[in-house]
Amino acid sequence: MSKLPNNPRTDQMTPGDPDALPAPEVISVTTHKVKCDGGGGALGHPAVWYEMGEENFVECLYCDRRFVLAEGAGGH
Ligand SMILES: [Zn+2]
Repeated sequence: MSKLPNNPRTDQMTPGDPDALPAPEVISVTTHKVKCDGGGGALGHPAVWYEMGEENFVECLYCDRRFVLAEGAGGH
């Protein structure tokens, strides 16, 4: 019986840094105010609004998504 080793520390994703978290999803937006609900489904969370303020990005506290203001967006 040939059973593949179930080793979570494979180097297929990030060689040299096995503890690195997968890169969060980056979403390009055109406004400083964004809404995130995790995309719905099993990974969803209550809808929350974020205001970037003086920054040009914001990260969701629930799902770690990063909303980045698109280049050239009229933020002001
Ligand atoms: Zn979120």
